[in-house]
Amino acid sequence: MIEPQDFGPVRYYQVDRSIAGRHIISTGVYRIGDLLIDTGPPRCPSFIRQVLEDGPVRHLVLTHHHEDHIGNAALVAERCGSTPRIHPLGVPLVARAPTLPLYRRVVWGTPEPLRARELGEWVETDRYRFRVIHTPGHAVDHVVLHEPDQDWLFCGDLYLADRLRFAFSDEDVGALIGSLRALLAISDCQMYCQHSGFHRGHQHRLGRKLDFLLGLRDRAVVHFEEGRTLGEITRALGIHDRFYRFVSGGDWSGRNLVRGLLRDAGKIH
Ligand SMILES: [Zn+2]
Repeated sequence: MIEPQDFGPVRYYQVDRSIAGRHIISTGVYRIGDLLIDTGPPRCPSFIRQVLEDGPVRHLVLTHHHEDHIGNAALVAERCGSTPRIHPLGVPLVARAPTLPLYRRVVWGTPEPLRARELGEWVETDRYRFRVIHTPGHAVDHVVLHEPDQDWLFCGDLYLADRLRFAFSDEDVGALIGSLRALLAISDCQMYCQHSGFHRGHQHRLGRKLDFLLGLRDRAVVHFEEGRTLGEITRALGIHDRFYRFVSGGDWSGRNLVRGLLRDAGKIH
């Protein structure tokens, strides 16, 4: 059984993924009344059954197409009769079973194909009104939900940590930097991250993440202009990614992040 955490009317259910008794990663979903934001990974259906015991879900929003967010959407839709909604770019991505690298199949599992509807500009429940903001970077279809009257920001995987030194091979780091800047233009909100949970102010957290990425980009450019290779730059920045690069077959690595930063700086294509 999971012990949900309550932040006023916002409830966070966190699920821990362990392999051979060793904790690997945590993720979670948020419920605000009859709105559910994300559905967790496919390997954890008992977790979502517990979420459903707290009441029906009339509004189901997916922040992006990654398997640890859409994994139980079909189950929720079947139980509650609510059609999942995702950014228009995500609709075709969830309509077929993805071809995932082995490590992601082991950690999270492969989601079933899903029929989803396109998100509009707003998601409205009986009590709240959430503005949908497209925030590409981490994923092409990534959105955050902003409730301006409550000062809530549900930020999916946009934040994750102040200092994230790894990226997926298909991440667009330049777009991520643009999305962080766009959200910093919003007045300060309580921030709800899918993996790291509740944070008091989004300005501080997202500002730190943006500063870290820009600082790393500047240092990467200096090393690049001194003629270093991608691997040498990554190591010079203190990012040691051999293990994860090997385990993920290059899908998740420090080099992906450095490549994206150099691209954003206009140094490579
Ligand atoms: Zn993600």
